[in-house]
Amino acid sequence: MEKQMTPGQLKKWFDSEEFEQQYHTDAPLGAWPDANGTHFALWAPTAQEVRLNLYPDGGSSQELRRVAMRRGERGLWLHDEYSSLSGVYYDYDVTVDGHTRRTQDPYARACGVNGLRGMVVDLAGTDPEGWAQDVAPARPAEDVIYEIHVKDFTWDPHSGVPEKLRGKFAALTLTDTTLDDKGDHPTCLSHAKCLGATHIQLMPVYDYGSVDEAGDPDAFNWGYDPVNYNVPEGSYATDPYHGEVRIREMKEAVMALHRCGFRVIMDVVYNHTYQLESCLFKAAPWYYYRQKEDGSASNGSGCGSEIASERSMCARYILDSILYWAEEYHIDGFRFDLMGMLDVPLMNRIQHELDKRFGKDEKLLYGEPWAGGECRPRAGVELAHKGNMKKLDPAIGAFCDNTRDAVKGSVMDERSTGFVNGGGLWADSLANCVRGWSGQYGDFAAPSQTITYLSSHDDWTLWDKLVCTMDPGRDFAGRDERVVQANKLAFAILAGCQGHLFTLSGEEFGRTKLGVKNTYNAPVTLNRMDWQRSYDNRDLAEYYRGLIALRKQQPGLRDKSTAAAGRIRAIRQWDSRAAAILLDNDEGSLYPELLLAYNVSQQAVEVNLPEGDWDVLANGESSLLWQKPETISGKAQIAPMATLILGKVKQ
Ligand code: CA
Repeated sequence: MEKQMTPGQLKKWFDSEEFEQQYHTDAPLGAWPDANGTHFALWAPTAQEVRLNLYPDGGSSQELRRVAMRRGERGLWLHDEYSSLSGVYYDYDVTVDGHTRRTQDPYARACGVNGLRGMVVDLAGTDPEGWAQDVAPARPAEDVIYEIHVKDFTWDPHSGVPEKLRGKFAALTLTDTTLDDKGDHPTCLSHAKCLGATHIQLMPVYDYGSVDEAGDPDAFNWGYDPVNYNVPEGSYATDPYHGEVRIREMKEAVMALHRCGFRVIMDVVYNHTYQLESCLFKAAPWYYYRQKEDGSASNGSGCGSEIASERSMCARYILDSILYWAEEYHIDGFRFDLMGMLDVPLMNRIQHELDKRFGKDEKLLYGEPWAGGECRPRAGVELAHKGNMKKLDPAIGAFCDNTRDAVKGSVMDERSTGFVNGGGLWADSLANCVRGWSGQYGDFAAPSQTITYLSSHDDWTLWDKLVCTMDPGRDFAGRDERVVQANKLAFAILAGCQGHLFTLSGEEFGRTKLGVKNTYNAPVTLNRMDWQRSYDNRDLAEYYRGLIALRKQQPGLRDKSTAAAGRIRAIRQWDSRAAAILLDNDEGSLYPELLLAYNVSQQAVEVNLPEGDWDVLANGESSLLWQKPETISGKAQIAPMATLILGKVKQ
């Protein structure tokens, strides 16, 4: 590039085919040691000069050396050393239009404290013992996704985790913890295991910027502020200063999760960066970001920056990153934050490339099918939002806000209600929840695309939402039996839906954040999993456990195919008080038909059962009746604020 361009001119140039033809490269990027030495490659297409700085540590020490990089083809800047620099820290000075910015490498695989400098790493040296044999458990017939945050999951003093490991990756290697270490009531991963979770979704574990890794050990943030996309977060390591430690400790956690029977899903945030002046920006100013017409930053994320996923080197960056986590860290699935900001072709390509390498649908992909503001992709680019779900691979899922809001009210308004908390139960809407809003009934191609949930880390916990709408005294910390009943009923409805089941950790024991809606930077004391509460409300968790187990056994409840919607044989409505759905299970299964009935009123509702004998599998009292079911026929009662799930006995 000869003459200086304005940001608005850069936008046009970066969007042009000419730019892509001239500068796209598939050459290796990053820093990697091999038998011949160490290689550095940075893509900086608009730079006039790039300098590599080498350091003995990741902190504030002076350079060991400075090296002028040589200009390669297609925007590459290269340098080779004839010795291994493994363990050496580095960054770049990138000069564009006479302005020099210091940056870490966007392709850094390791970094020092707070991610300011990359580190050259021999990745094989970070593998824990047994890593080569590490394999995920086989993908189960039904996914039950359990969302946790590394820090708040084990931070509680009652967690049974030794104090020095609480809130760290290392705590996830402990798979038999109990309340106060007394050996009675399971906590943390052993609790999730008992519940029936099959996938652990980790909230951001890549290196993020909002927590000072050298500061207060109790500092807390959810971590939706990426700094280094390809490096684990340092505050979760026992030592954030030595780049190899966080890598090894995260691998140890993944391996332990696999051994405990879980698959591991990472929450990935490729839609924005912590700051606009990120490593991506400093290496190639504006290239990775969408802009308004005047050249200023577009803000479709609501976080001040918006990644331009449709540009070829940006798409490559995101794809490379996903493949890297899948290959190097054995990650089994990815949850895309604000997936509605990424483009449809890229999401399909990611699924395709993962299928090609690991086997069809072996890696689970899903995301939020919305954005945080107005997105400005290149003209003609289709984004992976809810309205475009049917253009996505049928295996790519998305969070279903329809079911979430239908059951207990909108997340936008504290007072808004749904089926279980005063809004009334409507059979047509219930049927759509069961079908996962798929096919002709909604935005999803099939329940394979539907992530069915009631609460996630965002917005009120389910418990808090129910308290907000049901208890004028707003006693979040207490236990109101009406709220417990509504909570059970809400989950019973969810457990009858055909999409992928997703729950926020602790939802099953009435997790509360005391009515605070957005706790992304609230203290860990508010965010923490309260393991004493998991004991106090263990009956609620037990109710969840029974339904999860029941669901796993019934093919009609977990059908993810396009045929799933056709399983509904009949719908019955009693005013706005109750509704029932007759569902085709499988001819070959124990129960060829299931009857799902829900009563949201304070009076019992009588149901005339279809012909035949019916086993009572679950009701409002117990979700474990299926273990030794009572057989009934003729009529049945759905108790007030309760569910009744029946299975037709095979003739
Ligand atoms: Ca960090």
